[in-house]
Amino acid sequence: MHTAERTTVARLPSGVRIETTVHRYGTGEGPTLYIQAAQHGREINGTELLRRLHGRLTAPDSPDLSGTLIAVPVANPLTFDRVSYTTPEPIDSAAPNMNRCWPGDSEGSIHERMAASLWEEAGAADAIVDLHTGSPEMLTHTVYLRGDDDCRRLAEAFGTDLLLAEAAGAEADAEWDTREFDGKLRVAATRAGIPSITPELGSNKQVGEAAIETGLAGLFGVCRHLGLLDGEPDPWDGTRALNHLGRVRAAESGLFVADAGVDLGLTVGPGDSLGTVYDPASYEPLQEATADREGIVYSIAREATVTAGQTLVGVAERLD
Ligand SMILES: [Zn+2]
Repeated sequence: MHTAERTTVARLPSGVRIETTVHRYGTGEGPTLYIQAAQHGREINGTELLRRLHGRLTAPDSPDLSGTLIAVPVANPLTFDRVSYTTPEPIDSAAPNMNRCWPGDSEGSIHERMAASLWEEAGAADAIVDLHTGSPEMLTHTVYLRGDDDCRRLAEAFGTDLLLAEAAGAEADAEWDTREFDGKLRVAATRAGIPSITPELGSNKQVGEAAIETGLAGLFGVCRHLGLLDGEPDPWDGTRALNHLGRVRAAESGLFVADAGVDLGLTVGPGDSLGTVYDPASYEPLQEATADREGIVYSIAREATVTAGQTLVGVAERLD
C-alpha cells in the first residue's frame, strides 16, 4: 500500500506555505522506518534514490512490507529550490542550517518549525535514515554515533564500505559545540532512543549513479535488518573509522594543489605529503600539507581556492 500526503511544514513572511510530500508504504503492523532526503537542498542524490525506491516498492511484483516505511524526498524545499546548504538570513537568521535544530520547535524559527513538523513522523519511528551527500570529492560513507551499538548495526546494514563513528557531546572536540552538532537529526534521534544513521552519498548537485545504487542497496539492507523485508542484510566487511578528527587544514589562504596520487580511499600515514597551498600571485609555496595520523583519505578540497582554517584533506583514522 502507498499513500502520498501533501503537508505544510511552515509559512513564509508573505504567507506562502512551505509544503512537502510525505510518502507512506506498508501495512502499519511492524516496525516503522523514517527516511528523509535533502534537508540540505543541494544534496539531491537522496531525493533521486527515494524516487527509485518508490518504483521498487510499488512495482507489481514488489514484496509486502511487514511494517511502515515513511519517505520524505524533499525535507527542505527552501534549500532545495536554492540548490543550497543553508537558507539566507531573511528566511532564518536563528537557524540557517536545518540540520542544527532538531527535534525542532513548533513556535520557533522557520527551520525549527519545519523540523518540528517532520519530527511528528520521525520521532515516532523505530529507526531513521537521514540521507545526505558530501561534495563530489568526498568518499561515500555512513555516519553513526560512536559507542551506540544499535546505530552501528543500522550503519552496517546500510553497508557502505566506510563507516564513520562520530563522538558526541563531552567526548567530542570543541567543534561539537561551536557547530551546534547537537541539533543534527541523527543526534537528536539517537538521544531520543531511535537508532539513526546519516549516509553521505557523495557528489552533491549531481545525479551520481554509483552513489544512488549504493544507497538503494543500503535501504533494502536496512529494511531487512529491521524486519520490514524478509532475509538478512549482506554481511558487512568494511572499515570503521573516526569522523572529524583527522582533518588537515589550510594554515594559510591560497590555492591548494593536491599531490598526484592523493585520491579518495588512499591509506596515508603521519608525515605523508598531501599537497601544497600556494600564493597564487607570487607562486610562493605557503604550506606543505601533511597527514598527522594514519588513516584513509575520505575528502579532498578539489575546489582549489582555500581560506585559512578550511579543510584541505579529511583523513579518517581506523577504529579497529
Ligand atoms: Zn547534508
